[in-house]
Amino acid sequence: MYGRSFHYLKNDSGRGAPHFEERKLTMKTDKLANTYRVMHGKHFRLKDYDPADTGHWHSKEHAEETMQERIVQTEELQDMLYAQDNWAVLLIFQAMDAAGKDGIVKHVMSGINPQGCQVYSFKAPTETELQHDFLWRTTCSLPERGHIGIFNRSYYEEVLVVRVHREILKSQKTPTSLVGKNIWEERFEDIRAFERHMTRSGTVIRKFFLHLSKKEQKERFLARLNQPEKNWKFSAADIHERKYWDEYQDAYEDMIRNTASEDAPWYVVPADNKWFTRLVVSTVLVDTLEGLKLSYPKVDAAKRKELEAAKKLLTSKK
Ligand code: ATP
Ligand code: MG
Repeated sequence: MYGRSFHYLKNDSGRGAPHFEERKLTMKTDKLANTYRVMHGKHFRLKDYDPADTGHWHSKEHAEETMQERIVQTEELQDMLYAQDNWAVLLIFQAMDAAGKDGIVKHVMSGINPQGCQVYSFKAPTETELQHDFLWRTTCSLPERGHIGIFNRSYYEEVLVVRVHREILKSQKTPTSLVGKNIWEERFEDIRAFERHMTRSGTVIRKFFLHLSKKEQKERFLARLNQPEKNWKFSAADIHERKYWDEYQDAYEDMIRNTASEDAPWYVVPADNKWFTRLVVSTVLVDTLEGLKLSYPKVDAAKRKELEAAKKLLTSKK
């Protein structure tokens, strides 16, 4: 079972120490993370992925111990990310309504110091945003070095909702002569170039499509209608959007085909079981942070001298 042998050892400084059993876990982290990863989209087909898949796990309880470990690991790794202040990590979440984006954001955040994390929810663009190119508002919201940025929806809406509802494209202010039949290929190309640029500057991008079945979406909408404490989540617009289910699935598939890359892979995460979605996303995050080979900044001779002087001062006086 995952994590059975895991012990998060603390060394003298209170930080996680490299440990044989930890390395063993890391290998397994790789495996689970890679199962749902798409780096080369050419032959990608959404129907090859089962929204109800739970891997080797049979229940939330079964996964509980590992989930807790992921939270501890995230905490430790984020601390180093912040201290090192070189890399930024951007996590993008896209999904149909009721797939659990909000819950995932909350869950990922539970292992993170809020000081080193920024969450942005992208809604329909404002008038000001429409005065600019479609990536402008993204650029303004990107995570700083040392930070983890979470995008709840993103610039990918520009090839999803805008593609499914062509009238939105018309209402954007791009000169009409620039909006031709290749508009989606052009947007994919621009997104790929943007992500390559960000990657080269030190922003690590991981993109998650929370893959929900139409049947499970119906169940969740019904729960929102039937359970008073969930009523607030219900929106009639979501039911309307459900009519475009197939168009959305096609748009998602084409998006993944065209924008999956080694540097900025998509993860097609089964979303019919919320606990499993959370397990996969946390695992990918830990795997990503571990891949950065983070370490605390080294203390040079001058700094060490300064620390020693400060210690002397503190201990010599009451
Ligand atoms: P929840 O419903 O769980 O609170 P949500 O992400 O669905 O979260 P809403 O306010 O319901 O939030 O919806 C935001 C809407 O904004 C979505 O319908 C989305 O498609 C739309 N949107 C986001 N980006 C764009 C964009 N670039 N162009 C047009 N519409 C967009
Ligand atoms: Mg909504």
